[in-house]
Amino acid sequence: MKLTRPTWLEIDLEAISQNAKTLMKWTKAREMIAVLKANAYGHGAPEVALKLYEDNQVRRFAVATIDEGIQLRQILPSDTEILLLSVQEASQAPLMLDYQLTPTIDNLDWLKSAETQLFFDRTVKKFSVQIAIDTGMARIGVQNIQQLTELYQYIQHSKNLELTGVYTHFATADEKKSDQYFLKQKEQFIKMVQQAQIPSNYWHLANSPASVWHKDELPMDIIRIGNALYGYNMSDLTDLPDGLILQPSFTWKTRIISVRKLQPGMSVSYGATFTAQQEMWLGTLPIGYADGFRRSFQGGKVLVNGEFQEIIGRISMDQALIALPEKVALGTEVTIIGKEHEHQINLEDWAKKANMIGAEIILGISPRVLRIYK
Ligand code: PLP
Repeated sequence: MKLTRPTWLEIDLEAISQNAKTLMKWTKAREMIAVLKANAYGHGAPEVALKLYEDNQVRRFAVATIDEGIQLRQILPSDTEILLLSVQEASQAPLMLDYQLTPTIDNLDWLKSAETQLFFDRTVKKFSVQIAIDTGMARIGVQNIQQLTELYQYIQHSKNLELTGVYTHFATADEKKSDQYFLKQKEQFIKMVQQAQIPSNYWHLANSPASVWHKDELPMDIIRIGNALYGYNMSDLTDLPDGLILQPSFTWKTRIISVRKLQPGMSVSYGATFTAQQEMWLGTLPIGYADGFRRSFQGGKVLVNGEFQEIIGRISMDQALIALPEKVALGTEVTIIGKEHEHQINLEDWAKKANMIGAEIILGISPRVLRIYK
């Protein structure tokens, strides 16, 4: 795809690689499972995977769906694991085996049903699986020690199955006001894996918030990281701890495509929600809610020539309007997320404005916004 419309994301793969290094150092982890679901949180899964494989020697990746897994398997060498974080349908087991994808399992019946559909011969590698434990998210995962032991023993005694990990997911690791729920989940996990006698080299617990805020409280041998890899503070409740610096991994830009003068009393865009009180300049941006530039961004600010300028009037599907202090040249660059001179606009600023979380904003930036890698 070429830049035929001046609205684009500049993805900084070097920043992502740097964040991976920073997080490994911060947690003193031995290994990272890089979470690249939803197209690497919108950054481009193949590009991010190859960068982490080559520069950071990451060999373990996680995605949510089989399609995402296949996309990665087609570019990643076979010395990598691609874990499917969501539970899949057992009927898809042959596809998972073909593409060397590791399902998450939480149910012996599922496993037996999957096995009946797999044709194991001596040329086929083992079918790798990971067990999820539900310690408080209540989405997936075994719920008690009996189920866990049963699954673990079954896998241990199978010649075709191979266990590559056991994990849980935290619900509240970013909440600074109380550690209670987090600690309860951690204790539950440790109790269950110990009683089932699953060795610690299989365990992974720490997502981004657990790695960022609880690095000394958990087994951190293997970390499982999404948000923080891309440089985001995933909590709107607390700042990153002192000493941890993560770099934003993309900038979002556009250029002014039309400039006009408004006379007092003239209104703009659908619903005529903004009316000029005095003579003023207006710029049109080729970006709208079809790009993920949400209607709720109205009233927010972008950077033009290093200064904040307000989005006025309703944002339409493909275009948005900004107030300008003076006539500016057509083609002037506009920063929606990123830095210009001493000012910066972060993903989190838009998230606050739209009453969303940062991941929703970046994931909402549609595929028609060209990704440019540097
Ligand atoms: N592990 C699991 C099971 C997940 O579902 C996710 C993402 O939602 C992650 C890890 C990564 O979480 P984060 O982006 O907070 O690092």
